[in-house]
Amino acid sequence: MAVKQLASCIFCKIIKGEIPSYKLIETEFSFSFLDIGPLSKGHALIIPKYHAEKLHELPDEHLTDVLPIAKKIAAAQGVPDYNILQNNGRIAHQEVPHVHFHVIPKPSTSDDEGLVIGWPVKKFEKDEMEKIYDAIKQKL
Ligand code: AMP
Ligand code: ZN
Repeated sequence: MAVKQLASCIFCKIIKGEIPSYKLIETEFSFSFLDIGPLSKGHALIIPKYHAEKLHELPDEHLTDVLPIAKKIAAAQGVPDYNILQNNGRIAHQEVPHVHFHVIPKPSTSDDEGLVIGWPVKKFEKDEMEKIYDAIKQKL
């Protein structure tokens, strides 16, 4: 299914033009526009034209449409360093419950522009690592 929308969703409204946006690229499956709360100049969002809250709920044709758009936008932003970010669920920092991919330029001129992330590495013993591996692998 190419398009599925939810009337009350802010990003579905942007796709339909009911809320204005700084539109960038639109395809059969996706819509992209500037983020109104940017972390740096040119911070953009890419959204599927299929209302799903989380990435794993999306049909594959919507997923495969996104990365070529991200590639074009990242090249057009004119900054060599950037992050692609995609949050799923409230405690994982998702504020808008419609799947979206951020393309966030990381300017070299300022530490506080662009994405700033924590990376709290955990240590698992070998047997625990193997249990984790087996549990995931058997569900793939
Ligand atoms: P997330 O925290 O991953 O859910 O990010 C949601 C993003 O959507 C935030 O960066 C907001 O600034 C952005 N956003 C929310 N409403 C709009 C809007 N109407 N137009 C553009 N960006 C928006
Ligand atoms: Zn939606």
